[in-house]
Amino acid sequence: MANYYETLGVDKKATQDEIKSAYRKLARQYHPDLHPNDEECAKKFKEINEANEILSDPQKRQQYDYELEHPGASAGGFSGFGGGGGGFGGGGGGFGGFSDIFGDIFSQFTGGGRAAQQDRTGDDKTIEIELSFLDAAKGCKRDITYSRNEPCPDCRSTGAKNGTAYKTCDKCHGSGYVQYASGNSIFRTVQTRPCDLCGGTGRIITDKCTTCGGKGYQRKSTTVRLDIPAGADTGSYMKKRGYGDASTTGGEPGDLIVVFKVAPHKLFTRKNFDLYIDLPIDFKTAALGGTVKIPTLDDVENLTIPEGTQSGKTFTVRGKGIATRRGSGNLYVTVIVEVPSKLTRAQKLRLMDFDSDIEIKQYDKMKKYSDGVKSLYGQEPYTDKI
Ligand SMILES: [Zn+2]
Ligand SMILES: [Zn+2]
Repeated sequence: MANYYETLGVDKKATQDEIKSAYRKLARQYHPDLHPNDEECAKKFKEINEANEILSDPQKRQQYDYELEHPGASAGGFSGFGGGGGGFGGGGGGFGGFSDIFGDIFSQFTGGGRAAQQDRTGDDKTIEIELSFLDAAKGCKRDITYSRNEPCPDCRSTGAKNGTAYKTCDKCHGSGYVQYASGNSIFRTVQTRPCDLCGGTGRIITDKCTTCGGKGYQRKSTTVRLDIPAGADTGSYMKKRGYGDASTTGGEPGDLIVVFKVAPHKLFTRKNFDLYIDLPIDFKTAALGGTVKIPTLDDVENLTIPEGTQSGKTFTVRGKGIATRRGSGNLYVTVIVEVPSKLTRAQKLRLMDFDSDIEIKQYDKMKKYSDGVKSLYGQEPYTDKI
């Protein structure tokens, strides 16, 4: 028999609040959304939910305690727990959303009644922020101020005075759903729809909270600090759990989703975690070789250009891209041999002098081109190189 106290890491004498907080912490830590394809985590997550389902219910807990102390006693009616109950596992789709996990919190508000099946989580808030190229590439901290619906503290976001002035909905008996039968005596369909009397919340407010006027939330400006790791890209986003709008029905707040837009850089372009630059060099450096300073994210470093470097040649500087926790990208430097746009008369003369005794076989591409044209048309394309 699983020890649920150990699963949640709480003492056997833990209060309901301690259990609740331990469960919430673990549920967030092991939530399958955060660990896709991690069997181990999924299993752990399931155990945490099972443990919570029993320990958060004083009656079930009492029974469980008894069983724990009297192994084999097998109290009747206790076999129901441990299965896939408690709101996750739903048909085929794996785990439900956060609202399902925190369903227990809502069911406490309703005095142990069955929690409504609808989504009680508040809305997610989406904010787009612009990052400079370097901030995105190197990571940064950002304080983001935005307004959201915050849970009303006076009614614990239920909208009911003191968080207690409501009763279970008579129509749906707190489930938030009503079944409607339709069709004829042969083909009968039973459909489930949200209860119209309580709006699917499973409860009717008898006395509105005066602080929030029954809304369950208050509009407030909030500042949240984002620790943005290196590598944010345009269209990528970070999720800040619980920083969205408050639930209006006593559930968890939604999430804050921050979408990034990365500004362009003067020199770099990037693709994922790799950086790219074009490096213009002159003919002399390309022909004789040399050293050129190239930018990196932090500083500049020397790049050696070997003798006879062609325009379009790309050099890879390993590990000088964006450094992420999973490793670093590379910096790719593409050489462009530039021709001066203006020359003095004296320079022109010297250049012609240089060219006077150079042979076409010293140029690989020109030679190949020349041979091709000659073989097909019998003519030399570079007329001054005969
Ligand atoms: Zn109802
Ligand atoms: Zn209120």
